[in-house]
Amino acid sequence: MSAASKSAIVSWHAHVYFDPATTRPQAEQVRAGIAARFKVQLGRWHEVAIGPHSAAMYQVAFDVPVFADLVPWLALHRQGLSVLVHPNTLAPRADHLMHAIWLGPAMPLRADMLPASIDAAEEAAIVPNT
Ligand code: ZN
Repeated sequence: MSAASKSAIVSWHAHVYFDPATTRPQAEQVRAGIAARFKVQLGRWHEVAIGPHSAAMYQVAFDVPVFADLVPWLALHRQGLSVLVHPNTLAPRADHLMHAIWLGPAMPLRADMLPASIDAAEEAAIVPNT
């Protein structure tokens, strides 16, 4: 990967999927583990599918340097949950569908909810809350 293409990654998201009826306790454990260890922006709980996502989840937004510590931790501590890790490059459709890294089984995503491109101003800055 060239330096130019790597610098196109503005930030990362991890989406932690869960089933409100069965795996919410595991999702709470994962969330608490993240909050205790990493400087990230933890999104609110979405108990129903929202946007391109096909199941309940919460979002973890983080800056590029956090990836090297957070993603390996998630690989080992995801409690059996599916986690979508995707870069934010101002191309949401490609970021979710082509550039995604799945931990655990992949979940369906609604491509029609993902714009091909967005302006830099639309990509929210990470504000760590942990
Ligand atoms: Zn995302």
